[in-house]
Amino acid sequence: MKLYSTNLNAPEVSFQEALITGLAPDRGLYMPESLPTFSKEEIDSFKDAPYPEIAYRVLSKVLEGEVDDESLKALTYDAYNYDVPLEEVDPQTYIMRLDRGPTASFKDFAARMMARLMQYYLSKENRSLTILTATSGDTGSAVADAFYGLDNIKVIVLFPTDEVSDRQRKQMTTLGKNITAISVDGKFDDCQAMVKQAFADEDLKHMNLSSANSINIGRLVPQSIYYIYAYAKLRNYPEDIIYSIPSGNFGNMMGCVLARTMGVPIKKIIASVNENDEVPTFLGTGGYKKIEPSKNCLSNAMNVGHPSNLSRLIAVYGGVMDEKGNISKEPDMENLRNDIHSSSVTDAETKATIREIYEKYGILIEPHGAVGIRGLLDFRAQTGDNTLAVTLETADPAKFPEHVKAETGVEPNLPESLKKVESKEEFMDYLGTDYAGFKKYLQEKLN
Ligand SMILES: *Cc1c(COP(=O)(O)O)cnc(C)c1O
Repeated sequence: MKLYSTNLNAPEVSFQEALITGLAPDRGLYMPESLPTFSKEEIDSFKDAPYPEIAYRVLSKVLEGEVDDESLKALTYDAYNYDVPLEEVDPQTYIMRLDRGPTASFKDFAARMMARLMQYYLSKENRSLTILTATSGDTGSAVADAFYGLDNIKVIVLFPTDEVSDRQRKQMTTLGKNITAISVDGKFDDCQAMVKQAFADEDLKHMNLSSANSINIGRLVPQSIYYIYAYAKLRNYPEDIIYSIPSGNFGNMMGCVLARTMGVPIKKIIASVNENDEVPTFLGTGGYKKIEPSKNCLSNAMNVGHPSNLSRLIAVYGGVMDEKGNISKEPDMENLRNDIHSSSVTDAETKATIREIYEKYGILIEPHGAVGIRGLLDFRAQTGDNTLAVTLETADPAKFPEHVKAETGVEPNLPESLKKVESKEEFMDYLGTDYAGFKKYLQEKLN
């Protein structure tokens, strides 16, 4: 697998190098030059296979020659030791629950595979590195949990003080050992900007910094697998399917784009966003304008005013967008609009959807999943297209108990994994949003 940078100004690299370095030297994002495709027979053969087996077979083709088969199989079975339920809402609508991992969000899928692959490569070469990651809540907890206790990897997580829930924060601050959590007096976009600047800072090169954000291609590849899985379980090739994906930084949606490239007949990808509607506006008008500062919505993990993965999406359609959001080459907007639909869902609609889905079907969802469902229902209302659709629930309702309870009267059950952090002691450092302060912190901490 060869990867290029979306800024088109950096040498091609192997998967290992893209995984370890995160961002390309020209500040672009790595994208696979090409991907293998899965035939009808292969997809059929996934029908009765368990999730880790499908993950192993997909990855062994995508990463052919990059990881030895036996290690890869062990890594995937170890990473995916939890359920991936497909819950029927009605015969044309399913909810794929990606919330059964150890930190109860879909971020576990990527973080657990990425941690294991990084450890595999680093221990072969006896190297070490520090993962810097900005989080709006769930990435930080998933990454902290996935990398916890590894010898050759330190993790530093930056989160916006007022934008993460108590539970999300505790999942990052109660671990200790190789995990450091920093509470930043600012927004997610400020955290992300500081992290990106640190990667580009020559003075910090010797620190071997890497990223676990969805700028890392190691996050996206594992996120393509569940789209192949759900298709194989629910559909017979070549029947169509639609996915609706609650989106913030658009990493999850890019996983779906990769799955389509690999041959899954996906008729439409619905990228549902909250009131941060820069992407629906872009698809509508062709003009891109980031939202600064991003808006605080109930689905807090999607409060992103400038999604980094948009430059990857634009690259797939032949365009070039740099990290600042400037488009130097227009993508094929017609094809893009054909394949991707994006709609914005207000907080009021999010709440109403949580209530409606509970009242009609007895199914509990949380705000992110509600944005996904609303996006799908709006799409159906607009187009009359009733193709079988899978909408993603990206977090356990117990991560957002206040909102769920307010709309349904039900107190969601706390999964074991979340129970254990409740009473543990928290450790964290505090920083502002100025880069100089963050740089000094890193130099003191890592030297
Ligand atoms: C991160 C996250 C999202 C958004 O995913 P992106 O890949 O950033 O678009 C949605 N829901 C939850 C619960 C998340 O943690």
